[in-house]
Amino acid sequence: MAATVEGVEIDTRHWIGGRRVDSADRFQSISPIDETPIADVASAGSAEIEQAAAAAQTAFKTWGRTGREERARLLHKIADGVEANIERLAVVETRDNGSLLRSHRRGVMPRVAHNFRFFADWLLQLDHPDFDTRGHRNHVSWDPAGVAAIITPWNAPLMLGTWRIAPALASGCTVVYKPPEWAPLTASLLADITAEAGLPDGVFNVVQGLGKTAGAALTRHPKVRRISFTGSVPTAKTIAAAAAENLVPLSFELGGKSPFIVFADTDLDLAVSTAVGQYDNAGQVCLAGTRILVEESIRAKFLAAFTEKAQAIRQGDPRDETIDIGPQISRPHFQRIDGFVRRAKEAGLQPVLGGGPNAKLGGLYYQPTLFLDPPENAEILREEVFGPVLCLQSFRTEEQAIAMANDTEYGLAGVVMTGDEERAKRVSAQINAGLVWNNCFFVRDLRQPFGGNGKSGIGREGGTWSFDFYCDVKASIFSPNGWSKNG
Ligand code: NAD
Repeated sequence: MAATVEGVEIDTRHWIGGRRVDSADRFQSISPIDETPIADVASAGSAEIEQAAAAAQTAFKTWGRTGREERARLLHKIADGVEANIERLAVVETRDNGSLLRSHRRGVMPRVAHNFRFFADWLLQLDHPDFDTRGHRNHVSWDPAGVAAIITPWNAPLMLGTWRIAPALASGCTVVYKPPEWAPLTASLLADITAEAGLPDGVFNVVQGLGKTAGAALTRHPKVRRISFTGSVPTAKTIAAAAAENLVPLSFELGGKSPFIVFADTDLDLAVSTAVGQYDNAGQVCLAGTRILVEESIRAKFLAAFTEKAQAIRQGDPRDETIDIGPQISRPHFQRIDGFVRRAKEAGLQPVLGGGPNAKLGGLYYQPTLFLDPPENAEILREEVFGPVLCLQSFRTEEQAIAMANDTEYGLAGVVMTGDEERAKRVSAQINAGLVWNNCFFVRDLRQPFGGNGKSGIGREGGTWSFDFYCDVKASIFSPNGWSKNG
């Protein structure tokens, strides 16, 4: 079973225990660019999940004991393979999920390779110096937990997948990866790359399928010892219930409704261009600052400059290098976004920008949209839309800005735009979020922790936090007494 997408041949069967495995069931991957089906993909049920979990558990017996240097060497070889395949990965992912080809080529796919290199290198540095307690030596070790289930969404499938797969493998865990059904194809290419790199059979497995069948079977499987999930809050609740059955540790990276605060002392051009950047990836970014909070005294000036710049956004086929934003991922998601906008309009809010599908382009292209001053309890202000829809409100004082920023059940990210560094420190310290950018957006160093508060997630990944999650961290204490053989 294979598909050819943008000239790239893809095996659309699962990858289990180092070989291709088919399923009687199939699902179609539909390109958001023009809504055409581009691949028939094997769709797993509990039998294939059983096979994958068993293969991963068998492989763990060896991989979990493989030395750090060897694990790091293989991860670097996978990174080499990703780098050698950047163009193929980029064109397939763009066709599959509608994100910009230019960002896949120059940002996302190089970052996929970096995910493997970073965790390979970090593994070799992972150390915690021994320390003494009344003559007793204390030692800390990171022991791999076992089989890790990794489930990710479609908005950046390979980047979000590998940012968990890489640390899981580096830790010595084996992986069963279920890619998103709306954009599954690059996961299969990654499986080929890991095989070519020489990763032993069963260490990395890809099982494609729907959330409620494949995903559900995977998360309740008793052989799974870690679940890393990126996706929506309702799915997270289902997974948490499944994981409770086996008491499996979870890492959840979920949605957001992040504040984007603009103070009057900001560099206006920088603030406007960063704010317009919140429409990137057609608004399908968990971290996006979708609630723009502007200091009253510059509101008119900011709004005029923002709308002018946002109107200049070039929307269209994401394969065209001159385009800024592409389509939404799927018809159901498009309708969901439109539902939010229609209900906001029915409630009396009039968008000052966009406010509906892009009639000129048709298909799944939705106009960048901006609503002003939604009432405190408005759905459009409270719920994550996950589309190109922003709200703008204003504030008078710093305290008010912080209170408005924190008036959400989410707590993923925040952005502060100000010319005053002391204010930036003061305000970002008070924002309830896992990550705050000051005068910038989307700058990411993998040494930093990543995750959200409240409804935005549970736990942190990145740097040492990833190893803490994928390992059973162990404390060993050695007494000064009673040794008959001293080496
Ligand atoms: P989703 O929750 O519908 O699906 C995510 C993944 O979960 C898919 O692979 C899906 O097949 C699987 N899934 C669905 N039901 C399942 C079940 N019952 N059991 C196990 N797996 C199941 O989310 P989505 O619509 O694909 O993605 C959008 C959401 O992801 C948004 O809320 C967005 O904010 C969030 N997101 C978060 C981050 C982050 O790092 N915090 C990054 C990207 C996206």
